[in-house]
Amino acid sequence: MPQLLDRIVMKKKLPLSSKALAIHKTIVDAINNLLAEDYPSPISEGFKQSYQSIVSLFKEYQDTVIAGTNYQSTCKAGCHYCCYHWVEDVYSFEAAIIADYLKKERPQEVHSIIQASTEDEEELIRLNEIVEQKLFENRDDKEVDAIDQTDLLLSGYYQLQRPCPLLSDLGMCSIYPIRPLTCRIYMSFHNPEDCSPENINTANIPTYLLDLEEEASKLLDALHEKHKRFEKTGLRALLIDYLSEDT
Ligand code: SF4
Repeated sequence: MPQLLDRIVMKKKLPLSSKALAIHKTIVDAINNLLAEDYPSPISEGFKQSYQSIVSLFKEYQDTVIAGTNYQSTCKAGCHYCCYHWVEDVYSFEAAIIADYLKKERPQEVHSIIQASTEDEEELIRLNEIVEQKLFENRDDKEVDAIDQTDLLLSGYYQLQRPCPLLSDLGMCSIYPIRPLTCRIYMSFHNPEDCSPENINTANIPTYLLDLEEEASKLLDALHEKHKRFEKTGLRALLIDYLSEDT
């Protein structure tokens, strides 16, 4: 499903070895099995365990793909540049699992996470108004058409350096084992400084999206639709919706 993120990072296709393709096939089979199951909700223990196995396979897949190249990931604990991006394309079942965890394990933080998410959403709306205003300033229709408004908005938001509401004070993802797939695909093979907001508009930043192939992504989309309860797919919007619900 990741679509918006595609617009703000370079999406280069890495070669897939036969071993990587075999792991991908296992992932496809596992998602098909999960789709066939009749779990009442994504927070059912069976669903959570099955999805966590798929996530583990995805890590194995990424490692195998990278092992087939001359690259090495430079992403490491404590580096959190990508956690200032606007996080979109979160699957409904991922949001349900994250909210369930937060409500059960960190209930005292729920209110502040909702509040931070709401403020971030308001900031994005405010920024969008500015982008729209500036976009039409002294430009004809042809020039406006040539500009990608979403691209401008997302890179502008990144430069505001507003941390994800789930980023800890120590600069670590506070839900790391259950973070969304969209956070897992963003990967750097060069100096992590290249990912900083100051460099967002620099050409040739070597950041990659190491995502699943189309067959698996379509199945995850189907799983998302099966369990969807809210229309939005932004992490902050989903946190507000799921965390505001009575348990
Ligand atoms: S969910 Fe975790 S990994 Fe994703 S942006 Fe937020 S803090 Fe970063």
